[in-house]
Amino acid sequence: MPTAITPGRKFMGRLTKGDDLLAALNAVCRAQSITLGEVQAIGAVSRARFGYYDQRERKYEFLELNESLEILSLVGNISLKDGEPMVHAHVTLADEQGRAFGGHLAEGTQVFACEFALQEYMSFRTFHRNLDDATGLFLWPAE
Ligand code: ZN
Repeated sequence: MPTAITPGRKFMGRLTKGDDLLAALNAVCRAQSITLGEVQAIGAVSRARFGYYDQRERKYEFLELNESLEILSLVGNISLKDGEPMVHAHVTLADEQGRAFGGHLAEGTQVFACEFALQEYMSFRTFHRNLDDATGLFLWPAE
């Protein structure tokens, strides 16, 4: 069974040109002590780095695009890993032809402009990521 959560604070803001997209979102969560929540964003990046999880090899393969791209959609969640807030986000990006790419957002993605919304949640259960043997990923505990 999933865990019931209740809404906490909601934040909207923008990131600064040149920020690392993932690091900047993590910094907002740390600054506001958001330990559980959702994040969404749109905007543009001047370069991108995102991962694809190779399920057989159990490791991320990272793709890097050194070009201007639109953030069509960034969607993710916030929970705890090693006691710190951690943003887990996936992005869909588009190039000048409108072709879309995407994956697991990684550090190395540079903001051109970005508007985000963060929804904090409260829960009696702690959402803490731990290594999951079945997948090799850091996941929330199974209920
Ligand atoms: Zn992911």
